Amino acid sequence: MSEPILRIRGLKTYFFMERGTVKAVDGVDLDVGKKQILGLVGETGCGKSVTAHSVLKLVPYGGTIVAGKILFEGRDLLKLSNEEMRKVRGTEISMIFQDPETSLDPVFTLGYQIGEPIELHQVIEQHLISPKEVPKKVLEALQTVGIPDPKARVDSYPHQLSGGMKQRGMIAMMITGTPKLLVADEPTTALDVTIQAQILDLMRKLRQKLGTSIFLITHDLAVVAEMCDRVAVMYAGQLIEETDIIPLFEQPLHPYTQVLINAIPKPGAKRGKLATIPPLIPNLMRLPRGCRFHPRCPKATDKCKRVKPQMIEAERGHLVRCHLYS
Ligand code: SF4
Repeated sequence: MSEPILRIRGLKTYFFMERGTVKAVDGVDLDVGKKQILGLVGETGCGKSVTAHSVLKLVPYGGTIVAGKILFEGRDLLKLSNEEMRKVRGTEISMIFQDPETSLDPVFTLGYQIGEPIELHQVIEQHLISPKEVPKKVLEALQTVGIPDPKARVDSYPHQLSGGMKQRGMIAMMITGTPKLLVADEPTTALDVTIQAQILDLMRKLRQKLGTSIFLITHDLAVVAEMCDRVAVMYAGQLIEETDIIPLFEQPLHPYTQVLINAIPKPGAKRGKLATIPPLIPNLMRLPRGCRFHPRCPKATDKCKRVKPQMIEAERGHLVRCHLYS
């Protein structure tokens, strides 16, 4: 792998509730390489979005990062002050959220919302450009993300834009500082298939043009197959498998990943039932003993109910957390 730009070590992000502690992220180790697109996949509620938000120290709903390191180009982001972190966000690391509807402010024009971070970071904080240059930078960002007729769109309010244009506007806002790392949390989930393809294409071009590394959070394996160089699979707050894109689809090792891959309909395959697993979504407040996946695992043994499996390198560059390989 290329030199990591982001290194996450032993990350734990918990939510302390009256009824108990939700261990949303419970000891995650992960690297994102320079210019790499790393996918983090898993079912809803497995902790992947909380992992993404932890990178930017923007954990929602009162969650707390209780342990770990988040090394961005060697600097531990968890040791930065709020002021230092604010400078990192939007310039060096940017985030695209799932739903542009809730991320754009309905009372400001698109041009204003793209121009605001440029003014803050490049004019006021870093004195890189003069205030007069901000409108030009806004237009350039809109052109980069392929918004049609950008001069007219500068003065549009969010309600005057389609879903795809809003998501492009969001991406324009995120790339104004030419970030080294883009954290994209389900960036296409709220969009229809055609717009989804355009947004994914745009993200790939950003990587090519700006050399941006992308940490892509998704539950959609088709998006993973199309976009990612490497993939980590998350289950109940922990990573359970990590490998390059081809081995993930050709030779998944973890029983959970195997079911996920076998549940994808394959063109030309004989008709039959797709693979399924029991719908027992784990309760992150009361995790099972031993392997967290054992209540749903078709290959579980007695040992799986008692002993926690560790992440091991089963094959070169292919990590898995399962007793079958230890
Ligand atoms: Fe299944 Fe056991 Fe492997 Fe867990 S450790 S995934 S229960 S076989």
